[in-house]
This record gives sequence, C-alpha cells and structure tokens, in this order.
Amino acid sequence: PPDVEILGRSSWTLLHTIAATYPDTPSRTQQADMLRFVDLFAKLYPCWVCADDFQSYIARRVPQVASRDDFGQWLCGAHNDVNRKLGKQEFDCSKWLERWKTGPKD
Ligand code: FAD
Repeated sequence: PPDVEILGRSSWTLLHTIAATYPDTPSRTQQADMLRFVDLFAKLYPCWVCADDFQSYIARRVPQVASRDDFGQWLCGAHNDVNRKLGKQEFDCSKWLERWKTGPKD
C-alpha cells in the first residue's frame, strides 16, 4: 500500500491548493463540482482507514462550498480533525489562505 505520510502530505497540498484557487463567488456548477469532487475523493482515497474517517467527517460536517473562504475553512477543520486524531498540533484556520495561496511551502 502507498506510504500514508507521503500520500497524506501530497494530498493535503493538492486539496488546500484547490481551495486557494477556488473562486470567491463560485457558480452553482462550480459548487456542485466541488461537492462531487470531495465526495469522490473521500471514496477513492487510497488509505482505507483514512477514507472511512474522512467520509464520516463529511457526513457530520457537510462541505461548505459557497465561497473560497468557506471551503478553505471547512477543509482546514477537516485537516485539524485528522491532526487531533494523530496527536499533531492544530493549525490556526485564520491563516489557511496565507499558508496556501502561493502554493506549498514545505
Ligand atoms: P500534514 O498533516 O500532511 O500537513 C501538511 C502541511 O499542511 C503542514 O506542514 C502545515 O503547513 C499544513 N497544515 C497542517 N494542518 C493544516 C490545516 N488544518 N489547514 C491547513 N493547512 C494545514 N494519516 C493517518 O495516519 N491516519 C489517518 O486516518 C489519516 N487520514 C487522512 C485523511 C485525509 C483526507 C488525508 C489527506 C490525509 C490523512 N492522513 C492520515 C495523513 C495525515 O493527515 C498527514 O498527511 C501525514 O501524517 C503527514 O503529516 P505531516 O506532519 O507531514 O503534515
């Protein structure tokens, strides 16, 4: 199976970068596309325990896709949920765009 840490780091980079480039005022189609993307991503994510937990997070906290900031904050919350589970430090979600708008930094 793929390395869960490398896969995770790359996947969060992809997800937060998608959030940072999502429109401030997405069309209905763009919002529907994002909901489908998140749903399918959670189903297809190739770490099965991770995927199960991510799907149940999505069921508890419906993805917010009405604007870039709504989606970025939602995703930051989802990432923090995993951070808590793994005993990692929580990230300050007021800084998500600053962290990701110019692409990955680590
Ligand atoms: P990562 O958590 O990969 O974070 C990368 C960078 O993102 C950090 O350096 C920081 O700059 C930034 N960041 C951190 N938190 C946030 C935040 N809340 N918002 C915005 N930016 C942030 N691993 C498991 O062992 N078990 C699991 O169940 C599991 N589930 C996962 C579910 C998903 C959907 C994904 C994408 C990954 C999952 N992982 C899981 C992997 C795990 O989250 C980490 O990616 C992995 O442990 C590597 O961690 P890291 O310390 O390199 O930083």
